[in-house]
Amino acid sequence: MGIGYALECKTPFCRYSRLLVTGVGMRFSFVYQEVMEKARKGEVSEEHTQFLQDHPDGVINAKKNIYQCRDCGYYFSDYNLDMYIPKGDNADAPEKGRRSVAFPSEGMSYVSPFELKKRYKLYQTYPHHCPKCKGEVDVTEEVKDVSEKCPKCGKELKVSFILWD
Ligand SMILES: [Zn+2]
Ligand SMILES: [Zn+2]
Repeated sequence: MGIGYALECKTPFCRYSRLLVTGVGMRFSFVYQEVMEKARKGEVSEEHTQFLQDHPDGVINAKKNIYQCRDCGYYFSDYNLDMYIPKGDNADAPEKGRRSVAFPSEGMSYVSPFELKKRYKLYQTYPHHCPKCKGEVDVTEEVKDVSEKCPKCGKELKVSFILWD
């Protein structure tokens, strides 16, 4: 389960809303596979595709983060997308060729956030940028007030806390 925030416009008939979420949901194994698949196909970034070619046992962190732009204050959420490789110098390291744990009920394989922390080390962070102004961003867990106005009608946006699966 993850936490998040909904930014909503309260103007009647406008109904603009945007979700900002952080954490790992119940569907994480699917999300993980989707992110890895997209990265292999070159739909995430060139760096990620190259990374997986160079490190077939590498993994990408598919946890969601909330980011805030340092320049314009814009909030958005995205996958973490940092790149990890197995810890080689550790007795806990997975045997060669072992890429992930099987997800028992589904027969799928993925690397859980727990396993990522325990068995993998950070190889390269992925720098996110503001989708509005390309500015640098910080990870945040909390969204209080937004100065941003509704992009549809220009009125105030209201922030509410949410939990997601
Ligand atoms: Zn920005
Ligand atoms: Zn609006």
